[in-house]
Amino acid sequence: MFSKILIANRGEIAVRIIRACKEMGIATVAVHSQADKESLHVSLADESICVGKALPGESYLRQRDIITAALLTGAQAIHPGYGFLAENADFAQLCEQNGLVFIGPGADVISKMGDKDAARRMMKDAGVPTVPGTEILSSPAEAAQIADKIGYPVLIKARAGGGGKGIRLVNGPEELEKAFLTASEEAKNAFGDGGVYMEKYLSPVKHIEVQLLADEGGNVVCLGERECSIQKRNQKLLEEAPSPAISPALRKQMCDAAAKAAKAAGYTNAGTVEFLLDDEKHFYFMEMNTRLQVEHPVSEYVSGVDIVKWQIRIACGVLLNFAQQDVKVAGAAIECRINAKGGGKISFLHVPGGPWVRFDTFLYQGYEMLPYYDSMMGKLIVYAKTREEAIRKMNSALCELVVEGVPNNLDEQLEIISDPAFLAGDYHTDFMAKRGE
Ligand code: ADP
Ligand code: ADP
Ligand code: MG
Repeated sequence: MFSKILIANRGEIAVRIIRACKEMGIATVAVHSQADKESLHVSLADESICVGKALPGESYLRQRDIITAALLTGAQAIHPGYGFLAENADFAQLCEQNGLVFIGPGADVISKMGDKDAARRMMKDAGVPTVPGTEILSSPAEAAQIADKIGYPVLIKARAGGGGKGIRLVNGPEELEKAFLTASEEAKNAFGDGGVYMEKYLSPVKHIEVQLLADEGGNVVCLGERECSIQKRNQKLLEEAPSPAISPALRKQMCDAAAKAAKAAGYTNAGTVEFLLDDEKHFYFMEMNTRLQVEHPVSEYVSGVDIVKWQIRIACGVLLNFAQQDVKVAGAAIECRINAKGGGKISFLHVPGGPWVRFDTFLYQGYEMLPYYDSMMGKLIVYAKTREEAIRKMNSALCELVVEGVPNNLDEQLEIISDPAFLAGDYHTDFMAKRGE
């Protein structure tokens, strides 16, 4: 096993990874920006190195400085968390070139999956159903021609897109050119690649994703699905596992498709296959995220598997010591993302407790929310035997959680979990839009 790991991230996910390392007896190195020197991940790690200024481009995205920090401290592996360099194939390759293990899939797999157009083609070839759509489009005129055939509404999507960026809904021909150009421009600015393609806009649909682990021996095990349909501007807000809309038979079909996708890609480590599911229970591959996911804890609760520890073991060459038939998805887990709606200093923090209540955060009393990074302050996750009990537990945990000094979305989350459609488990990706958000 590794004796020292560098965590190339910040916030709650850096804290989560450091905790896993501690439990595994692995020493940790934190990297941080100047602005983050008082951050929790820095105080929890055994060592820390400042890699630059506040803006991510001047610190957390500085690949060479992060590699140097790992080499200087004698770390053998780098965990990228999510966001920042987690889906950066060049960084994975740079690690390899410097004799460091990148905790994630190989650089070739990251780059194949990071190109959503190439990923769609690979999935089609592997026999995994994909959303009806096109390959990369050359011009708005070409898009208009094909959209007439597919039928509106359609989505223009950036091949390099992620985190909800580079996606535009087009309701009719008059909106197409502008959507094409703005999606392309947005993707070019955010990801340096303006290539776009088109998909049929499916509605109503649910966003269902399958968590999997794949080892270097070719074993792929799925840890069931997550229901992630509660989104605002294509960003997830609340997730649950299992999905209330999925039968054991459908779960098996979707897990089989995800495993097929992973095998076709030669995938290793933890990954997520995202699908859209319509009311006729047809599912379509949307994309694969080649990294740890924000909402991984709900899968950990229902499967009993620690995903971060397995990421580390797999990266070290350890084979999975359980097979698909050993995975028993049981009970119900819910996660609420607690987001800041402005800046400020945490003047008071009270964290709920009790059995199966988990608050993954980097907040502490006196901490000042910084404007340079993600607005997510933490994730409140609960687990119970049944969905009804989990909802009641989330309700009481949200009521107990006190975060003063920074405007946040606690009230909104309380409203979501008492919405009749949510309670019935009968909701789609337009849930928030229907609520007027
Ligand atoms: P998840 O699918 O795990 O819920 P999110 O879409 O919420 O992931 O993204 C997690 C974090 O990673 C967010 O901070 C988001 O801004 C960032 N992110 C997601 N995709 C990318 C990407 N392709 N490039 C850079 N950052 C990304
Ligand atoms: P990202 O890489 O930004 O996560 P995705 O391709 O996963 O982009 O899409 C983000 C969200 O947009 C999905 O979770 C889903 O809600 C919605 N979406 C994406 N493609 C479609 C589609 N073809 N039809 C309907 N909704 C879609
Ligand atoms: Mg996605």
